[in-house]
Amino acid sequence: MLIKLTLSDVAKACGGELFGPDRVLESVVTDTRKVVAGALFVAIKGDRFDGHDYVSQAMQNGAVAAVVSRDVDSSNYIKVADTVLAYGAIARLVREAFKGPVVCITGSNGKTTVKDWLAQSLDDRNVLKTRANLNNQVGVPQTLLELESVYDVAVIEAGTSFTGEIPLLANVAFPDIVILTNASGSHFEGLGGLEAIAQEKGGLISGSAPNASIVLNADDQYFSYWCGLASGRKVYSFGFSSAADLYASEVELDAEFSEAVFHYGGHSLPVVIAGAGKHQIANGMAVVLAMLLMGIDFKRATDKLAAPVLVSGRLERLTSKNGALLINDCYNASPKSVEAAIDVLSMQSANETWLVLGALGELGSQRDAIHHGLGVYAKNKGVSHLICVGPIAGIAGEAFKELGGNAIFCNTHEEAATVVRPLDKKHAILVKGSRSAKMENVIEALIN
Ligand code: ATP
Ligand code: MG
Repeated sequence: MLIKLTLSDVAKACGGELFGPDRVLESVVTDTRKVVAGALFVAIKGDRFDGHDYVSQAMQNGAVAAVVSRDVDSSNYIKVADTVLAYGAIARLVREAFKGPVVCITGSNGKTTVKDWLAQSLDDRNVLKTRANLNNQVGVPQTLLELESVYDVAVIEAGTSFTGEIPLLANVAFPDIVILTNASGSHFEGLGGLEAIAQEKGGLISGSAPNASIVLNADDQYFSYWCGLASGRKVYSFGFSSAADLYASEVELDAEFSEAVFHYGGHSLPVVIAGAGKHQIANGMAVVLAMLLMGIDFKRATDKLAAPVLVSGRLERLTSKNGALLINDCYNASPKSVEAAIDVLSMQSANETWLVLGALGELGSQRDAIHHGLGVYAKNKGVSHLICVGPIAGIAGEAFKELGGNAIFCNTHEEAATVVRPLDKKHAILVKGSRSAKMENVIEALIN
């Protein structure tokens, strides 16, 4: 850990009461398997397990105390009202000791992409970044607790699954640089409408350090609203019109790379951007703005965008056993990201394009209309065949079929895989669905 914390420091920061002797801590963990001698074990209740049931095991493994919200069989513990909040408060202590910039990224789409791309582009510094998608109230503290003096920068992803989560995360990460990619209709169920989503994301701006820099998407309909939340903090905008501080013109989209001219502060540079789709150029601009804010020059920053972001399950190009191009975008799906992926599919040079679609979750009352709209979108973009897995994705298939497209309705991943398995290199197959649709099973079936 970056600083030597004591149990009494922790108790004070979380508003908790310390039982047992004060001690210096070696680490703070939530998983008994990660307990080392001198660790503080924070008992967190997850979907399947409750850490409170593992306190004695943690103590046996060498923990010096536990942070708990109910009585447990131990004499060394800190009692708090909410152990998740306590975990965040401990991480905040470590974060405060960190001298380098903390960059925090939120938005409906593109968080992980921007996070990974920025981290890989900062190749002259030591970067601590959120691993995978650990972007919630447990993941953000977990990442910050890994801060050590060797790191120059922290790049943190902040996601949200309930109203008020982003403000809590802002209070833990207390960012020096905020990147807000966009607001779109993901997570309708948890947060209410689009406006509520924009408000929630805006919590990262209001909760950032008072002198933070705020990177915003000038083309988003909530841009002005977010600018209003900045109150004195400096806003740096990106977009596709010259009104933005950093803007892209002369955009040329291609299957794997795009080209554009980036303009910033009176300078213009031609840029090659790895990854397909206009949204990727927007992500790239956000990355460049953050790099400029960290003192990296414009040319060096833009040059980094030519290197693809390697993220598995996100527009990942694979080859099926029979030689077809397989675009694996199974990691997750929101309506916007399905459209973005369809755009990429339709840019491929294959003779025939196939979309294997699983259901999108968390859409609430919009569910049927959105799936219907995606079927129409796919047809209009020239997708040749739409394979739907399950009845909800089937709504997209019905719309696709009504417009004269070839829709195939399947009940299982294996059925869908069987349909596309014979396809060879003349074909491109995009596989996409929400996390809950587990569409990676189709990918597995096609490559193994
Ligand atoms: P999650 O909420 O699951 O953590 P995320 O915000 O981290 O998502 P990514 O994982 O980077 O987003 O990308 C998810 C999907 O969104 C991918 O399918 C990608 O193609 C698409 N996408 C990435 N950036 C954008 C963007 N700026 N606008 C629209 N879609 C995007
Ligand atoms: Mg993510």
